[in-house]
Amino acid sequence: MARQVVIDTEECIGCESCVELCADVFSFNEDEEKAEVILPRGGSEDCIEEAIETCPVECIHWED
Ligand code: SF4
Repeated sequence: MARQVVIDTEECIGCESCVELCADVFSFNEDEEKAEVILPRGGSEDCIEEAIETCPVECIHWED
């Protein structure tokens, strides 16, 4: 099974960097004021890697 990208929402501070980088994978949940994954196994891996590196609280991870 392909790995999928997950966000630890407990840690997310809602900066929206990941949403700006990969809008097809991450979305901003206005109610929770946190990001969420809308396409866990899709999108560009390069883009996701960049989001992982950019997240200020390092709460985006790959999960097998
Ligand atoms: S980059 Fe990290 S802290 Fe910022 S919205 Fe995305 S998951 Fe949350």
